[in-house]
Amino acid sequence: MQFAYNDKTYDVVIEKKRSNRNTYIRVKKDLKIHVTTNFFTSNRSVENLIRENYARICDMIDIQEVKARNNNGFFYLGKQYTIVYCDSKHVEFVDDKIFVPQDFDVDTWYKKQAKELFLERLNYNYEKYSRSIPYPKLRIRKMTSRWGVCNIRTHVITLNLELIKRDICYLDYVIVHEMTHLVYGDHSNSFWKLVGENMPEYKKYRDEMKEFEC
Ligand SMILES: [Zn+2]
Repeated sequence: MQFAYNDKTYDVVIEKKRSNRNTYIRVKKDLKIHVTTNFFTSNRSVENLIRENYARICDMIDIQEVKARNNNGFFYLGKQYTIVYCDSKHVEFVDDKIFVPQDFDVDTWYKKQAKELFLERLNYNYEKYSRSIPYPKLRIRKMTSRWGVCNIRTHVITLNLELIKRDICYLDYVIVHEMTHLVYGDHSNSFWKLVGENMPEYKKYRDEMKEFEC
C-alpha cells in the first residue's frame, strides 16, 4: 500500500499484533507510514482509516521531511553538529550536538544568526579597512553560484547565507573582497593588492572558495 502526497509516494507498513488493542498511525524517520493495529483489522479498514486521516498524515510527513532535510549535514561556523530534537523551547549546543525544539527550521535559524553575525563582521572589517570607502548596506540571501555580490552604484553588499556554515575567516574574506569592489570594480592587480593590504592571507581563502564566484 502506498500513500501519495506532494508528487511523492510513501510506503505504508502495516504491523498487526495480537497485543494491539488500538490502531496507531505514525510517520517515522524512514519516511514510511507505520500503521500498528490488531490481527482482526482488515486491510480495507486500514485504507479507510488512512483516507480519513489524510490531512493529519500529511502534517506528519511534513515534519519528518523537514527533520530529514535538517540532518543532511548541519554545519555552523565551520563545525558539524548532529541535530537532537527535544521538548525545550531553546537551541543549545553541547559538544558536537545541537539540541533544538521539535519545530526547529534550520534555514530560519541560519538567517537569524547570519543577520547578527554578518553585520558585526561587516562593521569590524569596515572599521579597520585601509581606505576610506562608503559604508555598505548589507543584504543576506541564499545564492547558488556566488559567495557575495557588490553593487558599486548602490553600495549594497549581498552575502550568501551559506557562509554561516563555514569558519568566520571565510566570511571575513568575502566581506573584504566585496568592500574592495567599492574601490575597484574588477579583479585587477590593484584590486588584489588592496585585498592583500587588508587581509595578507587572502590567497588561502580565495583558493579554497573557488566553487562560487565573488
Ligand atoms: Zn570579486
